[in-house]
Amino acid sequence: MNLLGLHHITAMASDPRANFDFYTRVLGLRFIKKSVNQDDPGTYHLYYGDYAGSPGTAITFFPWPGLRRGRPGTGQAYATAFSIPAGSLAFWQERLVKLGIATEPVTTRFGDQVLTAFDPDGLRLELVATHEPDLRPPAPSKDVPAAHGIRGFHSSTLGLVNAQATATVLTKVMGYRLAAEDGPRARYTISAGGPGTYVDLLTDPSLPRGLNGAGTIHHVAFRTPTDASQSQAHTEIAKTGLHISPIIDRAYFKSIYYREPAGVLFEIATDQPGFAIDEPIESLGTKLGLPPHLEPHRAEIEAALPALTITP
Ligand code: ZN
Repeated sequence: MNLLGLHHITAMASDPRANFDFYTRVLGLRFIKKSVNQDDPGTYHLYYGDYAGSPGTAITFFPWPGLRRGRPGTGQAYATAFSIPAGSLAFWQERLVKLGIATEPVTTRFGDQVLTAFDPDGLRLELVATHEPDLRPPAPSKDVPAAHGIRGFHSSTLGLVNAQATATVLTKVMGYRLAAEDGPRARYTISAGGPGTYVDLLTDPSLPRGLNGAGTIHHVAFRTPTDASQSQAHTEIAKTGLHISPIIDRAYFKSIYYREPAGVLFEIATDQPGFAIDEPIESLGTKLGLPPHLEPHRAEIEAALPALTITP
């Protein structure tokens, strides 16, 4: 199967304004797309990433105002990690404390320092000050100097009671390989490896069972280069007996969805066509993006969405 690493990670949130302020102003990501949840067009789908929303950088949200908080735990993508430069941990620690963001004490993981912080809905985020080279440029930001900016995803950590069946799907079906192991954490990588490819399986039966809601991950999407490689992945997954969705056109990429054996929803998304398909790259995120089948309903959809005025 031709997969290249993480594509995007989608979570649930409550207030869209608080979500927007945190990811753009606190983390310094670029707001790259204001769209709607295609399965629930009365709800936003908000995307944040690097300048172009390159695959491997985009964290996305379905914000339902008033949504009750979920509970992070097993059967979920438990933590979402971003890559920052090795020397940037002190900058982020100081910045997050100054802004009143909840954090946990710094830990060390596979030789890298990891700072855990929580978004306004309690989503568990990690900043990994990685010693590995990561040449991806950060999003331009007036709040975060480029030297310290987030480079994109580092890894997704799945919380599991038992990692075996998940590891089998990663390695035997998806083409991932074991990169490192430390106690309950096993790190898998694919393709060229490095930050942006990692999936960590954390075996911790003492974690509560995860419950969906605000502040939890909805799904983890993996990159595949082309429509043809996606179609091939679809065939290979279907052959294993895992239930898989048809190929769905999400306008900015095409998607297929399946649940790995521990219950985490996986997606395989194409690198193309990307977020500049319906607005110029210089002004990404300023216009409500709708897939062609929802375009005829633009006026009703815009009227039903909560106000979200974007100030660049
Ligand atoms: Zn997705």
